[in-house]
Amino acid sequence: MQFYDQARWKDDEGEAYEPLLSEKKSREEPIEDAPLPDDLTRDSLELPDLSEPELARHYTRLSQMNYGVEQGPFPLGSCTMKYNPKFTEDVAALEAGAVHPDRREETVQGTLAMLAGLQDYLGRIGGMDAVTLQPPAGAAGEYTGLLIARAYHDHNDDDRSEVIIPDTAHGTNFASAALAGFDVVELPSGDDGRVDSEALNAAVGDDTAALMLTNPNTLGLFEREISEIADIVHEAGGLLYYDGANLNALLGRARPGDMGFDIMHYNVHKTFATPHGGGGPGAGPVGVVETLEPFLPDPHVREADGDYELYEPEHSIGKVHGFQGNWLVLVKAYAYIARLGDPGLADASAKAVLNANYLASRIDYEIPFEPFHHEFVASAGDQDAGDAAKRMLDYGVHPPTTKWPEIVAEALMTEPTEIENRETLDQLAAAFEAVAEEADETLAAAPHRTTARRIDQATAARSPRLSWQALDQE
Ligand SMILES: *Cc1c(COP(=O)(O)O)cnc(C)c1O
Repeated sequence: MQFYDQARWKDDEGEAYEPLLSEKKSREEPIEDAPLPDDLTRDSLELPDLSEPELARHYTRLSQMNYGVEQGPFPLGSCTMKYNPKFTEDVAALEAGAVHPDRREETVQGTLAMLAGLQDYLGRIGGMDAVTLQPPAGAAGEYTGLLIARAYHDHNDDDRSEVIIPDTAHGTNFASAALAGFDVVELPSGDDGRVDSEALNAAVGDDTAALMLTNPNTLGLFEREISEIADIVHEAGGLLYYDGANLNALLGRARPGDMGFDIMHYNVHKTFATPHGGGGPGAGPVGVVETLEPFLPDPHVREADGDYELYEPEHSIGKVHGFQGNWLVLVKAYAYIARLGDPGLADASAKAVLNANYLASRIDYEIPFEPFHHEFVASAGDQDAGDAAKRMLDYGVHPPTTKWPEIVAEALMTEPTEIENRETLDQLAAAFEAVAEEADETLAAAPHRTTARRIDQATAARSPRLSWQALDQE
């Protein structure tokens, strides 16, 4: 087994330390001979005046004090932390300098063709008739999809105020529905971890605007009654929303559109191997069935007589992001899907499911709900899942997602993805096994080998300081 000591750049006291850029000593003599006229320059930005090697070392050191998918496995369930193949960066770099978002349509036909091409790819993958690429994240996609649902019902003079969401759903579903102005109706899962059609029947009614669902759900279980569920919602006049943040179990095998879903979002920064984490930028395209196409965000790309153009859909909900969304992320997703092709996508989902099942077969933690697909939720049992997770870092692997979904006590939600080979899966299994046998005290004090040990997660999430200006203001 391989062990791990994270690099630790330190201060005099031995505390982890890498100075902020603003704390680094600036060049003795600032560059005076900027080639720009005075009226086009400003000094209010207070940028540190550093050389390229100083910058490169700063960011490399920070990366050495962190854990990433380029160091080892990253089985963070639901998040689908795939390795981002480098060729997609090359493709994005080709395009990067070339287009200004305000250029006239006739001068950017290639760009529009690529956007239309990605709309088509995603539409085919999800079984949707039209796709907007504008939303910048999964949660933004949910919000966009729900605005479309609202606009559709309003257009039909149908006043519907409720969105039904299973208790196992991702937290963003509840937040997006509330932000879009709906009342949230939480649906308790059945004993088998799936939607209970009796409970659903009791929840739907004249107020139902939509049901939001993930399939396979966050326990990795396929909703076998999906056709019946779709009928119940549709008969009540509601729409079916598919949370497709993570499509790794379905790629090339099954399509939400064929299951009866009307709206879905995709996370290109999960399923389609574009960078993920650190707050983005990502992209959360939204697909819809034909009847909802007139409500898509403005502008939308379409092909007309061999040319590509931007247009405003008839009952558009308006803009949800600047221009066409996060263009370079979309280029990377396009490149990834084009390189894999249909057989490659189907192969990815096969390996994702195989890897999750192989890993699960090698660990002793109980897995209460089966059969799962691309991810499984183990229970840490008497251990605290958060502590067990921290300890895994000491074995050189990233921990799984913890304590969610709540229907499994001390949940360890694990998704190895298709990128890992058997040797790495064995390494992951060995880490799980080692941690499963350790005493609570050892776990509670972990991690020992990382640069930062226990951080104050709540404060980091609630009051993030994302710039040195924010730090300065304290
Ligand atoms: C990640 C995720 C989301 C939210 O996506 P973001 O891009 O993080 O906003 C929604 N639903 C599920 C199931 C997810 O895993």
